Amino acid sequence: MSRKLTEKKIVLASHNAGKLREIGALLAPYGVEVVSAGALGLEEPAETETTFAGNARIKAHFAAKASGLPALSDDSGLEVDALDGAPGVYTADWAETPNGRDFPMAMAKVQALLDEKEAPTPRTGRFCCTLCLAWPDGHDEIFAGTVEGQLVWPMRGDNGFGFDPVFLPNGETETFGEMDPDKKHGMSHRAEAFRKLVAGCF
Ligand code: IMP
Repeated sequence: MSRKLTEKKIVLASHNAGKLREIGALLAPYGVEVVSAGALGLEEPAETETTFAGNARIKAHFAAKASGLPALSDDSGLEVDALDGAPGVYTADWAETPNGRDFPMAMAKVQALLDEKEAPTPRTGRFCCTLCLAWPDGHDEIFAGTVEGQLVWPMRGDNGFGFDPVFLPNGETETFGEMDPDKKHGMSHRAEAFRKLVAGCF
């Protein structure tokens, strides 16, 4: 059985504005006070593992130890089947430039690789999310979620963040970039992992 969260305040172990917004909205109904790692002046630890769970653990344990509060982290990414699961855990890295992250460039890179390979359509893939809730005593709980869909081009919509404008979830006509944020929050990889977290720890 998962450990219950009895504390009323947690740290969100992320510096990603899009994730902070989405996880803040998911947590809002539960009466838990949320403070971000950035607001506490915590550094971002290096993500040196090769799995979503491994990197989620690094971020949550680092923030829990540094703050003395339970910490919730999110490690997520996009897996594209025709690219053998890339960019996967390296999704954020694909957007790195000397001047910060450039997601339109990263989405164009994915599209160019798919075209180079003459990958057939639909170009299937999924968003994956692993949440880790870690306590300062070293205990943690892990929850994962996915949402299946396809990569579309050109980019569509200004909502969301990261690769949302090129991800069309199965059964939908709008990309995550076009979709109302509340609808995305109900069906995303993050929402699925979050439902499991709530069932286990709340
Ligand atoms: P990381 O978990 O910090 O390594 O970064 C994950 C990366 O995956 C983000 O920077 C986004 O590019 C991408 N990603 C994760 N979740 C989403 C999502 O809900 N929409 C769009 N992109 C996402």
